[in-house]
This record gives sequence, structure tokens and C-alpha cells, in this order.
Amino acid sequence: MGVTMSQIVNIPLTAGSSSQTPNRVVVHAIAEFIDGVPAVDFLRSIGLSAHAFVTCSGVIIRSREDTRGAYHAKGYNTNSLGIEFLVPGNHDYASFKDAIRSPYLTENQYESGLWQIKEWFSKWLIGDISRHSTLDPTRKTDPGDGFPWERLIKDIRA
Ligand SMILES: [Zn+2]
Repeated sequence: MGVTMSQIVNIPLTAGSSSQTPNRVVVHAIAEFIDGVPAVDFLRSIGLSAHAFVTCSGVIIRSREDTRGAYHAKGYNTNSLGIEFLVPGNHDYASFKDAIRSPYLTENQYESGLWQIKEWFSKWLIGDISRHSTLDPTRKTDPGDGFPWERLIKDIRA
């Protein structure tokens, strides 16, 4: 398993605090397109951000440095790293919530996301990794039952 530099691209987002020391990872899912708008552009348009997005082909889009905050998880934006797994296709919120109930990750996407998260664990003193839905259960359902959470936790520790 490995990710080459060609699989990492930078698309900066400006929303977030100017400095942080990460101790938490929050795992998210977001539609590839929201009402026709690419996920990164959509978050920019509503003043939100994340540190990384993982495309269906396994490309990692970096949007915030680890040492800068991002606005990705209400109440948990301090000292945390947010990673967004893209869900294929164009969705409104209802179809997105439906899509993440069933498996949606490609194998390349899973491996790239695992690589990014393991890199964070090797670089920072990460005390917790959470699903967004666990941190904000009344508002959020991502990354959903279709996300291989148990596999991810096992592979991070492997
Ligand atoms: Zn989320």
C-alpha cells in the first residue's frame, strides 16, 4: 500500500483557525457533487472546510494544513483533522443520506484514506478518531452505515 505524490493535489480552503495541534481525527462523507457543485467548491461557498478529501479514484485533495484548523465538525473544530470521503455522483441531502447507507467506497479510495489517516497518526498524538455522526448524532449521519468503520479501525492499528 502506498500513495504517490501524483495522487495528492492541493486545493486550498480558507475557512478555519490559523493554528492548531491536532489530537483528533473526524471521518466524514460528502457527495462528489451537491446540486451540481463539486464538494470542495460547495464547502467553500458555505464557509466550511476540511483538511483532506479522498476522491473515488483514490486521489487525496489537501485543503488545509494539519497545523491550521478547519470548519468540519461543529463543537470539534479545535485541534482536529477532518477527512471527507467523496460519495460518487450528484446528490441532494436526501439522496446523499440514502447513498451512505450502503457500501460506497472504492478500494483505491479506502487505501488512500487509510494512508492519510495513518500518516496523521504517525505525525501527531492522536487520542481519538470519530465518525461525524458520533460527535453530532442529532444533525449528522455521515460517514454512514456503508462506511467500513470496523475495518478502518483495525487497519489503523495494524
Ligand atoms: Zn461530516
